[in-house]
Amino acid sequence: MSHPPITLVGGGLVGALLARQLAGRGFAVDVFEKRPDPRTAGFAGGRSINLALAERGLHALRSAGLADEVLRRAVMMRGRMVHARDGGGGLQRYGVDDREVIWSVSRGALNMLLLDAAEAAGVRFHFGQALAGADFGRRRIRLADERGVERECDAGVLVGADGAGSALRAAMHAQADLGERTEWLGHGYKELEIPPARELPAAPPRDGGGREQFAIEPNALHIWPRGGYMCIALPNTEGSFTVTLFLPAQGPHPSFASLPDATAAAAFFREEFTDLLPLIPRFAADYDAHPVGTLATLYLERWHLDGHAVLVGDAAHAIVPFHGQGMNCGFEDTVALAELLAGCGGDTAGAFAEFQRIRQPNADAIARMALENYVEMRDSVADPRYLARRELGLK
Ligand code: FAD
Repeated sequence: MSHPPITLVGGGLVGALLARQLAGRGFAVDVFEKRPDPRTAGFAGGRSINLALAERGLHALRSAGLADEVLRRAVMMRGRMVHARDGGGGLQRYGVDDREVIWSVSRGALNMLLLDAAEAAGVRFHFGQALAGADFGRRRIRLADERGVERECDAGVLVGADGAGSALRAAMHAQADLGERTEWLGHGYKELEIPPARELPAAPPRDGGGREQFAIEPNALHIWPRGGYMCIALPNTEGSFTVTLFLPAQGPHPSFASLPDATAAAAFFREEFTDLLPLIPRFAADYDAHPVGTLATLYLERWHLDGHAVLVGDAAHAIVPFHGQGMNCGFEDTVALAELLAGCGGDTAGAFAEFQRIRQPNADAIARMALENYVEMRDSVADPRYLARRELGLK
């Protein structure tokens, strides 16, 4: 039996990898992506500049034959490098050796690599085309181009990989209640940058072997835990680090509301992140220019509309980023869904129901763990009792 054509909404990380997985299994796949092609127009991510790639995500990339290519563009992170307020801290390894590590990858570079890989497998991309509506019974979708001009076209089986604010989810919800609930964290984030060491007048000297280009230890996920808030930094291949400040959005000091501009924020950093501030020479410009991102967990009772449409990745289960697992979890979705669709013998509704049955418990578990890990990262990792328990192998 031949496979039904697939219409995928969203060519981000999960959409591009799923497209590749499906095309590799013989599906005809069309992807409609709201943004212009990042390979020609430049990447306009709007969200975290780099991401932690872990074994779950790597497994999915391996199954698509892409893991080695991705790892060539990644920086290994062996553990958490904790920077305590008093200047103490150190590396807390994720495992006993380099078989248990995670990787820092650029969102833009990874997205472009996945688009290339999907296209090479025969996927057709339509950029600058935002889903505006869907008629599931007639198998028609409405698309808006970058000027807002709308048109209708035929659709195959619909898959929504269009992220936390999914337009396909909204169209499905208009048809049947999906049991949607969003829990806002109340904390936001802002990205800053530690440039390569050569751009820092007083960069601490580093050893050779390529590591001297980094201002701080390259092979670690850095954390400055401060109780109710924190900074983290992930390395980039060219020697810089993307720093993310996580802080309550509103409320008493310190919050993003109490730090409305770079002058207030720099005074706060001088007190709280004394060792970090000198590593961010463009602090004022970055703080004032970069938006405060919001964070939430999305829970859905139904991920699919019979055999017509299904949601994957953040569109089905957006989570807070503190376990670095949102993309990884979405990558796992792609393997499960592609295998189920390829083996369902035309019973798409059955494949979608099974997909939700298999994947939802995993998504719920990581959503819970991600919320718990915020407390651990911003607080417990700096607690001497926690460190003692780790020493004893209890945590
Ligand atoms: P998205 O990446 O949101 O992609 C959706 C795509 O759909 C986009 O290309 C968008 O343009 C397109 N689109 C949207 N609307 C439409 C429409 N109407 N029509 C057509 N196309 C549309 N995860 C990790 O695994 N590790 C990490 O370290 C990590 N760090 C994070 C840090 C932060 C600050 C944040 C916010 C998230 C982090 N995540 C991390 C989570 C990760 O970013 C997401 O899980 C991942 O991006 C989900 O991929 P996606 O393809 O499902 O959605």
